[in-house]
Amino acid sequence: MNEIYDMKQEISRRRTFAIISHPDAGKTTITEKLLLYGGAIHLAGTVKGRKASKHATSDWMEIEKQRGISVTSSAMQFEYEGFCINILDTPGHQDFSEDTYRTLCAADCAVMLIDGAKGVEAQTIKLFTVCRMRGIPIFTFVNKMDRASKHPFDLLDEIEKVLGIHSAPMNWPIGTDGNFKGVYDRQKKQVQLFDQKGGHHGAKKVGMLSLTPDSPELADHIGSHYQQLLASDIELLDIAGNPFDTTQFLNGEITPVFFGSAITNFGVETFLQYFLGMAPPPAARKAGGEMIAPDSDFFSGFVFKIQANMNPDHRDRMAFIRICSGKYEKGLQVDLALSGKSVKLTQPQQFMAQDRTIVEQAYAGDIIGVFDPGIFRIGESMASGGRKLQFESIPVFPPEHFARIYVKDSMKRKQFLKGIEQLALEGAVQLYKQPDIGTETYIAGVVGVLQFEVLEYRLKAEYNVEVTMSRLNYKLARWVRFKDASFARDLKDLTLTSTSLPVLDSSSSPVVLFESLWAIDWALERNKGLIFDEISEQSFRD
Ligand code: GDP
Repeated sequence: MNEIYDMKQEISRRRTFAIISHPDAGKTTITEKLLLYGGAIHLAGTVKGRKASKHATSDWMEIEKQRGISVTSSAMQFEYEGFCINILDTPGHQDFSEDTYRTLCAADCAVMLIDGAKGVEAQTIKLFTVCRMRGIPIFTFVNKMDRASKHPFDLLDEIEKVLGIHSAPMNWPIGTDGNFKGVYDRQKKQVQLFDQKGGHHGAKKVGMLSLTPDSPELADHIGSHYQQLLASDIELLDIAGNPFDTTQFLNGEITPVFFGSAITNFGVETFLQYFLGMAPPPAARKAGGEMIAPDSDFFSGFVFKIQANMNPDHRDRMAFIRICSGKYEKGLQVDLALSGKSVKLTQPQQFMAQDRTIVEQAYAGDIIGVFDPGIFRIGESMASGGRKLQFESIPVFPPEHFARIYVKDSMKRKQFLKGIEQLALEGAVQLYKQPDIGTETYIAGVVGVLQFEVLEYRLKAEYNVEVTMSRLNYKLARWVRFKDASFARDLKDLTLTSTSLPVLDSSSSPVVLFESLWAIDWALERNKGLIFDEISEQSFRD
């Protein structure tokens, strides 16, 4: 009885989220600050191993070396005011890959981080689309307000128009022309003043001075010009702004917007407090026809990421599992749904800032990393107590870079096929075949170019196969579907531009590779009843 009560308590205090942003918007900085408030690190600036590598080199081997085991920051856990918070890392820059997308399948909500001067950028749009598809709640944090930014009304408009989600500002910035003065908290009806000197470049927590918007003292701090501007903005927001609605938010239809400055810490703790008050705890997840409640009396979870370590001294693989229900305890025995195998989850690890620790217990909402001797694959589900549960599959996300791969030594064709098929199964790369050509020339598709280097290296290191790759001009892949059976036809009967290539993916689903959006439109105009899917709901395990 007590144990079940404890488990329910533990699960209800968990909040698991990912930050989605375009590179340089300040994801590393805000993550660091959140850890700072959680007491996980005392002086911000220490989560830097991975950061330094990000800019320093384009050589992924170097990246791996600097990261050590290469997985240190895949998920970080910290405590704050009774909550247990899991931040999932969504790699950007050159380590942007399909994993970045898949990680979003393990999150219960997302924080969209936007650079106030730049607005909604390309990578944010892509990641947002995945969150939208999953219907998870999305918070927005507009960062870098200590500098001149776009006008906040324009930013809200951009979020609504570009992303198609309603926005509800929770606070409002003052002095966005490069004279940042602070924010007005719309719920508390208080102005929080920005104190540049207080932040020590944001390495410590900041104190906060709060005033009402009409207080005469406020003019002394921000000047009567900004006070008047604020008064008219508040009026406008009250009349024209979207009111915040919890149901719409939980359905991913409206995003609460917060303005702040991660580097100076300004607005970060307030954001964290609002976030914890609004973010949902782990919810029930669908497996087959059933909804599995997080506080079920058995353990269940699924693999959303497999990471091979490139460091030759630690040639191992980690499978990252999102726990969907129950409690993990050391040595737990689970049944895998896809492979049908039964395995003991030994020595799972969790991550706190830079340290890996062995986990004794973990609960629904948590992420654990387990050593993978080659039995896991992306989307693999598992449950304790002899149950065979299969959670909804992880979709296949659209690659953006393509290359034809050839084996150098044709005598090694067998190893090549084995290696490349295994790596595709692991989710390291997507493979396409041309229906009319044999299997010698595979086309590989990836989300981030670094994946090509990883593929080449792993084929050599693990399968002793050398390959050559020739990059192709395709930039977009679309899965082919027809409105209904009367429109259905063979891939080769589609009318396409001469530079578009019909192929089959690894589950033999028809796909067309395109060089431009224009070519996609061209094909849609000429093939009645044809539908192109950007994200394939059919997982590669099928
Ligand atoms: P990431 O690529 O999204 O992880 O971005 P980083 O956290 O590395 O930040 C990119 C750059 O923006 C760095 O030079 C940061 O110091 C800077 N930066 C981050 N947050 C802020 C902010 O609130 N204000 C200003 N002015 N700069 C910031």
